[in-house]
Amino acid sequence: MNIILLGAPFSGKGTVARKIVDDFGLIQISTGDLFRENIKNGTEVGLLAKTYMDKGELVPDSVTISMLKERISREDCKNGFILDGFPRSIPQAQELEKIAKIDAVIALDVPFDEIRRRCLGRRVCSKCGEIYNTSTYSESTCAKCGSPLFQRNDDNLETLNNRLEVYEKMTAPLINFYADRLNVVDGSVSPEATHMSVKKLLEGLKK
Ligand code: ADP
Ligand code: ZN
Repeated sequence: MNIILLGAPFSGKGTVARKIVDDFGLIQISTGDLFRENIKNGTEVGLLAKTYMDKGELVPDSVTISMLKERISREDCKNGFILDGFPRSIPQAQELEKIAKIDAVIALDVPFDEIRRRCLGRRVCSKCGEIYNTSTYSESTCAKCGSPLFQRNDDNLETLNNRLEVYEKMTAPLINFYADRLNVVDGSVSPEATHMSVKKLLEGLKK
């Protein structure tokens, strides 16, 4: 089963994807994570991506698409994957159609007020990538692996406004693009409740 998770920044794509991966034995592919890995390793792609990410802009399609193609072509994706953060534009979706069959698209629906509230509290584990929010977790180290948590460079209100604008303009049109495979899920509730809705939905689709 190949799945796409759509949603604005802070809709909970990454959090849900990590849980669904455990339930269904899929591979999670997050283009945001892939870019951050490239930045950490000081690659050419990383250096270029950083200039866009810090401003909340999309990394150019050519770069993103070739990175994604390389990742999807690897053996571990053969049994199914869940895409989180890709596609983010119509050209990206068109390219994806050429290389993979997408079975389901899940859009996480979260009102903008809730998104703004979530933005300032997000913390990420520096080692395993687990995502926390200071409103529900006040420790400075990861509950799973004990590594320090950090706040992403682009998690601040200035960048957020730009990311939301980019989302509306570039990514929201994908809702129509995928109309034939689209399932909208309420993402404004707790991570556990969102996870349960998505899990039930996918179990229904598998039958
Ligand atoms: P979030 O969904 O919380 O905004 P991500 O980790 O998915 O965060 O993405 C962070 C940044 O990485 C984006 O703002 C963008 O600059 C870049 N990025 C990630 N995925 C893509 C993509 N598919 N196309 C272009 N840029 C991307
Ligand atoms: Zn961790």
